[in-house]
Amino acid sequence: MTHVPSKNFINGAWRDSSTGESFPVTNPANDEVLAHVPSLSSDDVAHVITVADRALSSWRAVPARKRSDILLAISQALLTRIDDFAKLITAEQGKPLAESRGEVLYSANYFRWYSEEAVRVTGDIIPADSPNKRIFVLKEPIGVVGAITPWNFPIAMLARKLGAALAAGCTFIAKPAPETPLSALALAELCHNSGVPAGVFNVITGDAEMIGEHLMRSPVVRKVTFTGSTEVGKILIRQSAETVKKLTLELGGNAPFIVCDDADLEQAVEGAIYGKYRNAGQTCVCVNRFLVHQKIAPAFTARLIARSKELVVGDGSASNTQVGPLISDEAAAKVTRLINTAHNEGATVTLPPTSNPRGIRFISPTVITGVKPSMTIWKEEIFGPVSTITTFATDEEAITLANSTPHGLAAYVYSSNLSRAMKVSEHLEYGMIGINDTAISSVQAPFGGIKESGFGREGGRYGIDDFLVLKYLSVVMP
Ligand code: NAP
Repeated sequence: MTHVPSKNFINGAWRDSSTGESFPVTNPANDEVLAHVPSLSSDDVAHVITVADRALSSWRAVPARKRSDILLAISQALLTRIDDFAKLITAEQGKPLAESRGEVLYSANYFRWYSEEAVRVTGDIIPADSPNKRIFVLKEPIGVVGAITPWNFPIAMLARKLGAALAAGCTFIAKPAPETPLSALALAELCHNSGVPAGVFNVITGDAEMIGEHLMRSPVVRKVTFTGSTEVGKILIRQSAETVKKLTLELGGNAPFIVCDDADLEQAVEGAIYGKYRNAGQTCVCVNRFLVHQKIAPAFTARLIARSKELVVGDGSASNTQVGPLISDEAAAKVTRLINTAHNEGATVTLPPTSNPRGIRFISPTVITGVKPSMTIWKEEIFGPVSTITTFATDEEAITLANSTPHGLAAYVYSSNLSRAMKVSEHLEYGMIGINDTAISSVQAPFGGIKESGFGREGGRYGIDDFLVLKYLSVVMP
């Protein structure tokens, strides 16, 4: 495994908290303490904001081609160290090693993508109303950016934001989740060694509310980009009012997966396995609700159960593991409560979880049938390896069921009639829709949701816009 960081990365160097306080980071598979990382004081956080502010004027003046070269160097360095980073991600987050390698590759691809976008930030010249007047539109970096990220993709959620921000010419302060700060910290050092100047990318750890308040209150921090729960996203919206701060919010989902009666069942079930059980069900785009046409529901359910039973649950560092532990006892208790509540509310736990000698975090793939919109498990984001099945009779009913949530992140439609799937998808109130596909997250596409799943986009040519502001020059030539 790569060097395990135990300090914060601030102004191009490793730093402790001024108070000496720290907290432990543990492996969710076995409770091994991997490191202690600093718990910054309020003064420390204020200092980091000053550092990022000071670094801004020189970084935004670096020619776009040079910033592009640095981003490409980061991408290549990550690929060179793919196994080191994968081991670190699995150690702090729990996901199987193959998935961690995929996360590093995905992150490297974001840096490569934004190395390509960095040199294509172009403005406009707009015809004016008089012959001696010119109107120029420039795109400029928004300024200092604060980023708050969750634990489910320790470096990918950061890479998506950081690549675009550095390409735009912004400086950056990241606060990773306390469960998984190590790969973010290791990424900061890798970026520095790849040419990112001191102060441009800083990674800090400590009390979330205190750091969040600092970032939100500071007039210097012009943008906060957040990936996490809708609940915290709403707090940030309220806090942003004071400084009229620009936000990007990638929040929770409640993804429906519609299986039409003409779907290719094998393809649908394989899509379901990937879309449900990846990262033990702990992704924002994981399927939360299978909506299956009543004609094929028995066949789909039988096949899904058979495939779910085959998945190997265990420590993510073992080569045969397909479903790792949940991130914490609290997360596992929440999933278990949702299963029990679904049963008490009248659903059938058709494939119950099996107890695992390793502990309660190792929840085996579970299938619940007869789920209704009135049930708790329908309304909440499960964030665990639990499939819930509801049947429908018509496409209209499937659409109504799918849309009956305040969330609007990802949805999936399976049908061998592409025209039917397109028509259904046009009525789905979601930011991203996979048609016969659950692998929807890719660097060239704009990732993001609508409704209470947030606003702003990450990835693709749209992603950089969130880190740019327009400046318009009205010029009269004497
Ligand atoms: P979370 O509880 O919202 O935490 C996310 C981050 O916010 C953590 O770093 C957390 O730090 C911090 N935080 C908590 N309270 C805060 C506050 N008052 N001010 C500032 N920061 C605060 O979410 P989570 O449980 O870690 O992650 C799971 C959620 O993320 C799910 O809802 C999932 O759907 C969503 N997610 C969305 C996307 C997307 O792209 N749409 C991607 C991945 C995950 P502490 O832990 O220290 O409190």
